[in-house]
Amino acid sequence: MDLGIAGKRALVCASSKGLGRGCALALADAGVELVLNARGAEALEATAQEIRDTYGVPVTAVAADITSEEGRAQVLEQAGQIDILVNNAGGPPPGFWSDWDRADFIKALDSNMLTPIALMKALLPGMIDRGWGRVVNITSASVKSPISQLGLSNSARAGLTGYVAGTSRQVAKHGVIINNLLPGSHDTDRIRTMIQQTADRTGTSYEEAAKERDEACPTGRIGTAEDFGATCAFMCSQYVAFMVGQNILLDGGSFNSTF
Ligand code: NAP
Repeated sequence: MDLGIAGKRALVCASSKGLGRGCALALADAGVELVLNARGAEALEATAQEIRDTYGVPVTAVAADITSEEGRAQVLEQAGQIDILVNNAGGPPPGFWSDWDRADFIKALDSNMLTPIALMKALLPGMIDRGWGRVVNITSASVKSPISQLGLSNSARAGLTGYVAGTSRQVAKHGVIINNLLPGSHDTDRIRTMIQQTADRTGTSYEEAAKERDEACPTGRIGTAEDFGATCAFMCSQYVAFMVGQNILLDGGSFNSTF
């Protein structure tokens, strides 16, 4: 399927591994030029080179912490003109409601709310001037259905969702489309760590805990980074010109509701 975005230039944050990497690969497959980012330079360069070799698109790799002001400045300086922004960063740690103090909330808000907002503030003006842009914010299924132990994530992502709800409607008339993509369980390092924690807590094996997670999903398996990337690339395509401020849940039907 031709997504109609070949030759566009995308910044995909936190993209050396996992869901961000899945988005980067799918965009490269659509002919999009990429700016990739992660903190660890080695894995980032490996992903960048794999994409250059496989898809033949130009890739700039910027090793920096996207949640810090200096990191964002570094990424934005090397990114230049960007048509497509995929916002992503690591998620906050799990815990219990009484564990978290102000500093924990500020850190979570910085990473998962204020960082994507800062990047949108920096890049939306250029998109508006050129009359075309796409933004996909990777949030979480926890926005729709809370995951109790991820209270920091539930809170920060709800804040971003509120910001996007209003902002997306202010920029849509300029051809700039902002939506959120909400992952349910997908097979990445982060989810593998969580499966291992469940196995340790319940005294079962990793395989048993992974099987239970697969079986809890109507598809009989959790998602892959490829599933996620394909949906993200579609949300960055020419075909979403009339989809504004939506929260697209990609969870294999795990959230049980009629609509
Ligand atoms: P992952 O497999 O752990 O990959 C995270 C990627 O982000 C890596 O490339 C990592 O590289 C990079 N990264 C992390 N912190 C960064 C930072 N401060 N600056 C720049 N790059 C950073 O995680 P994932 O499963 O893809 O999850 C991505 C996001 O989706 C997270 O916010 C997570 O909470 C959310 N989510 C995931 C799932 C799931 O099932 N996988 C479900 C719901 C929500 P470096 O470590 O080298 O920086």
